[in-house]
Amino acid sequence: MKITDIKCAVIASSPIIRITTDEGITGWSQIETPKPYLQPIVLQLKPWLVGQDPVNVERVMRRIRMRGGFKPWGAAVSAIEMALWDIAGKAAGLPVYRLLGGKVRDQIRTYRTLYHEPGIKHTVEDYVRWAEIAKALPEKFGMFKLPTSFHSSMVREVPEFFYGALQTDAPSPYPNRGLLTEHGFRHLVECVTAAKQTLGEAYGLAVDAGPGYLAHDALRFAKALEHLHLLWVEDMITGDYVPFVNPDVYREVTARTTTPIHTGEQIYLRQNYKALIEGHAVNVIGPDPCDVGGIAELKWIAEYADLHGIAMAPHGTANGIFGLAALIQVCATLPDNFIAFEYPARFEPFWYEITEGFDGVPVRDGMIDVPDRPGMGVDLILDAARAYVSEGDADFFD
Ligand SMILES: [Mg+2]
Repeated sequence: MKITDIKCAVIASSPIIRITTDEGITGWSQIETPKPYLQPIVLQLKPWLVGQDPVNVERVMRRIRMRGGFKPWGAAVSAIEMALWDIAGKAAGLPVYRLLGGKVRDQIRTYRTLYHEPGIKHTVEDYVRWAEIAKALPEKFGMFKLPTSFHSSMVREVPEFFYGALQTDAPSPYPNRGLLTEHGFRHLVECVTAAKQTLGEAYGLAVDAGPGYLAHDALRFAKALEHLHLLWVEDMITGDYVPFVNPDVYREVTARTTTPIHTGEQIYLRQNYKALIEGHAVNVIGPDPCDVGGIAELKWIAEYADLHGIAMAPHGTANGIFGLAALIQVCATLPDNFIAFEYPARFEPFWYEITEGFDGVPVRDGMIDVPDRPGMGVDLILDAARAYVSEGDADFFD
């Protein structure tokens, strides 16, 4: 089999990838929703892909892996990897998990991030409301993640939250960093405590908090939360959109608290996890298949983390319906260090109308059944999708 073309169209601000072959098999995948600017990066890779045999996934990946980087620059390479696996699965008539070694679980646990519901502010009262909204969700998730402090508008809403110079117009989503004031620190701990106490012990709670903490403040925060038995605290030192990792600083924090410390969603490739894992710098890692280099890359990292006693909670908030399919396939195969993946809850219901594979939100009691369709399990319905494709991308359907 040979790749004949690679196309990329933007649908609802999400780049969708279509790899076609001379045997009529099509591979589909997707880049995170808020990244339409990556469309030309995908198309630049076309000369390296056309003519290659897509079922030799690793052989193809060796041609393009050097063209990626930390988030967001690993997304194009990662999405192509997933479309190749889709083709390889379809060619074999098997779901992709079978090609990754088979599933070790029939249902996958998923957790839900609590996005900024309308009217919710970073007050103690609103953290209680947030927890109540979470418990009432129809999918009955058993684990949630709360964005707070530097990973939220708390840093702008709470006067004198920290001693740093507040940046309000930076191009990156989490530009603020510095020492928390005593007032800011106490408010933060009260808010997280209120949310956890409202949820109760039947629900797991993780906190996405940075990047932005100084190491001793991160330790002080983690220690203050120890009695809450959180799932983890995420990205305090480095993290989302930070183009490097600081494993030695993470290790200073992780070694001194019983609150599990988590990072990794922005990291590209296994090599960039090496120091974090071998140095036992964190307790939980969260690679995103759509940024780390793909699903085989994620599986390798999960196995290596398991050897070192480190848990896995893959990131996926904006991965869309194709990213959801990829997370299910790979998470079905991960070792027992797998906790749950982040449900990509931020895509519109129309995606179920323009794709085949899911009959609506697949989560029941926080769990997803592993499907048995060949490939990744989701296909775009071209005729249905036509109305949603951006102007200028009409050749996507040729
Ligand atoms: Mg995060």
